[in-house]
Amino acid sequence: MACPVDAGAGAASVHGGGEPVGATTRRGVWLSATVTTTTENLSRSEAAERSAHLDVRGYRVELDLSGATDPGRPTFTSTTTVRLASTTPSTFLDFVGPAVRSVVVNGRALDPDACYDGARISVDRLVDDNEVIIVAEAAYSRTGEGLHRFVDPVDGQTYLYTQYEPADSRRVFAVLEQPDLKAAFTFVVTAPSGWQVLSNQPAVAVEDRGDGTATTEFAPTPPLSSYLTAVVAGPYHRVDGHWSGPLPDGGTLEVPLGVLCRASLAEHLDAENLLTVTAQGLDFFHEHFAYPYPWGKYDQVLVPEYNLGAMENPGCVTFTESYVFRSAATRAQHAGRANTILHEMAHMWFGDLVTPRWWDDLWLKESFADYMGAHASVAATEYTDAWVAFANRRKAWAYTQDQLPTTHPIVADITDLEAAKQNFDGITYAKGAAVLKQLVAYVGTDAFFAGARSYFREHAFATTALPDLLRALEASSGRDLGEWARLWLQTSGTPELTAELQADGDRIASLRVRQDATDPLTGRTVLRPHRLAVGLYDLRDRRDDETVELVRTHRLELDVTGAVTDVSEAAGLPVPALVLVNDDDLTYGKVRLDPRSLATATEHLGALSDPLARSLVWSALWNATRDALLPAEHFVELVLRHGATEDDSAVLVGLVTDARTAVERYAPPEQREDLRARLAGGSWARLHEAEPGSDAQLVWARSLARAAATTPAVAPRLRGLLQGTEPVAGLPMDPELRWALWQSLAAVGAASLEDLDGELERDRTADGATQHLAAVSSFPDADVKATSWETLLTPRSLSNDHVDATISGFTQPWHRELTAPYTEPYFEALRQIWARHSIEIAGRLVRGLYPSHQDVEPGLDPADHPVAARASTWLADNADAPAGLRRLVLEGHDHLLRSLRAQAAARP
Ligand SMILES: [Zn+2]
Repeated sequence: MACPVDAGAGAASVHGGGEPVGATTRRGVWLSATVTTTTENLSRSEAAERSAHLDVRGYRVELDLSGATDPGRPTFTSTTTVRLASTTPSTFLDFVGPAVRSVVVNGRALDPDACYDGARISVDRLVDDNEVIIVAEAAYSRTGEGLHRFVDPVDGQTYLYTQYEPADSRRVFAVLEQPDLKAAFTFVVTAPSGWQVLSNQPAVAVEDRGDGTATTEFAPTPPLSSYLTAVVAGPYHRVDGHWSGPLPDGGTLEVPLGVLCRASLAEHLDAENLLTVTAQGLDFFHEHFAYPYPWGKYDQVLVPEYNLGAMENPGCVTFTESYVFRSAATRAQHAGRANTILHEMAHMWFGDLVTPRWWDDLWLKESFADYMGAHASVAATEYTDAWVAFANRRKAWAYTQDQLPTTHPIVADITDLEAAKQNFDGITYAKGAAVLKQLVAYVGTDAFFAGARSYFREHAFATTALPDLLRALEASSGRDLGEWARLWLQTSGTPELTAELQADGDRIASLRVRQDATDPLTGRTVLRPHRLAVGLYDLRDRRDDETVELVRTHRLELDVTGAVTDVSEAAGLPVPALVLVNDDDLTYGKVRLDPRSLATATEHLGALSDPLARSLVWSALWNATRDALLPAEHFVELVLRHGATEDDSAVLVGLVTDARTAVERYAPPEQREDLRARLAGGSWARLHEAEPGSDAQLVWARSLARAAATTPAVAPRLRGLLQGTEPVAGLPMDPELRWALWQSLAAVGAASLEDLDGELERDRTADGATQHLAAVSSFPDADVKATSWETLLTPRSLSNDHVDATISGFTQPWHRELTAPYTEPYFEALRQIWARHSIEIAGRLVRGLYPSHQDVEPGLDPADHPVAARASTWLADNADAPAGLRRLVLEGHDHLLRSLRAQAAARP
């Protein structure tokens, strides 16, 4: 799947659409998907045990969704017929839902009371060949896990879609839920007549049942892991397309394309752009993977209240509908969407055709898809600058994650499903992709793709682990990759790369690259092999005006392996104004600027003409800020000074976001008010200087809107924008910007409920409802905080999107005093949150409500700060808490310590 997107505005539900609970099994009250029973958390060893004895021949899954439009019906009937070869007399299937009605094994009925425990259905007296039929009641979901149901407030229409990875197909049907038990699935879905009903394969029969419903049967899938199956149903708007490509036998592969979204969003759907990128991607992968697209048709559905960016269900990819641009969208947003389309498409091969055997090797598909998203953007689409955003934004995610105490090797040790769920992180995606980029620099693009081609041929429709891929790449490259894999894939931590330059007058006497790298998990030094480039940059006058530009004069490519590597070619060259290690971003590592280069960047970063080099320097500056080496104030000043000339909108969005983080987290409290005013004032100025209608104008307007949430003084200007009394030529006052402005006005107490209700009148959409909730939750009022807190902690009171909206209002950084009383209740509630909410929602609550906005106290060690100390106590007292919960608390704790250290270091 694609990682969660930074889309600003997601879609949303009607407020408070909780799922009624109370369906009971004969064993007692079912507490919904919100209680993790011990048997729900399947372990790696249990999965291995099953696959050692079982071979699933095929499933027939019948879902009766005919009552989906009735909000009073919390469940639907799900019937699984599975054919199973077995060498063991007993095993279990997985199902998480309100009730199992019947279990029949080879014609013999079992007592569901006796064989179902809420997560597993035990079956026994198995023979070589078996047929198991299970009839169950499954629940419609409001958390985005399983079969999600959404009612569009615009027209009252009901929309359904499924989301399973890593293990939620068992919330929809009884199944053996592990990736290595691949099987053919035949889905049969009964739903209201006239709906679009989709699955991984095309429909082969539709029967009108004469009662306003119709039953659609789909062709059986090729062998597939259960987490990759999908069903989508509802009155979706559909746009058709078509792609064809040559087959090796001289024939033609025909692939029908579809793009779908909610009917009420149809006017905003730029299907042509989506279909263009889709066709470009299919051309590229078809040629370079040399394995014809294996899944028949290719539908892409933009769905409401989605928990992630997208999911690679073969033939039926689902995306967040924030990719339907209801408001103005920057080039970066379009590029990001194209990148996600290509990421999911790469999965049709990496992940779907060849699947990691267990979640330890999740990277085998995610790192590749992430790499391919950028690579194919450059090679096949108009977004040829994809590596710039990758270097700056994607890698920032990796560096952040890799410095947490919870970091892990790219090839992880995933013992169970809860651990798997936490591993869709910056290591698996971004660091893995960055390391693959380094591998490509190491073995060459041709060998890399040749290895991929033989890997697909050899393992089609099967599952793999790390050695399978290494064998393919070693064969194609002729290089032994064992040591490379051990150092890059099986260790943790971020290398630091520093240039050390000795001058002899105005010439370089020596230039060396120093590598510092400690694996935080083992404490050992891990010096990795890097193929990298060192760029030397100098200032020169521009011909056409009085200004200077910073240009590369030399590019020196070399292998860096040890602690210190001499760049011998540099000796004798003129001393440059700036030395950039890892120029062109071939390898993975934090780059430290030497003092001369930092001085040059401070003065002339905007004059650095190469966008990739610029984004690398920005990345170095941000890492230095996070590491308490560069004061937050300095970073904010650089953004305001040089951001005006940043023409890559993805990088610019990152800069203004980082600047806000620097002010709120890394600046010492005594500087904060001043920095807030400078950031808001600077954003206002840049907004007015920017070219009308440009991306930069939009980004600075959004920056202003967010900065205003901590700067009451600019409230009158926001009102002027909203009311049209202070218009900015070319700036689209669309829903996204309007809501961002209203949320900030609400946060500083400069908007009334009537104001917000008035805006909702203008925007009576699902997204409008979510944004309105975020704004209402942003009032600086103790009663509002109390209500939000109670609602958030009450299971099933909010949909996934509305949880996020409420958290965003609750945690407004300007409200530190109002939220301080919730620090102790937060730590006291943690275990309850984890136990009572679904893992998706629990994760959002634990992460989102962590009291992260704190001020360093003079003379006090950051670790002794009361909140940090409280977290330490909680961790010590809760050694037995679920690993996923402990991981999130550890990460919140580490982020806080980092911010306090930066604040302390920035004190004069
Ligand atoms: Zn993915």
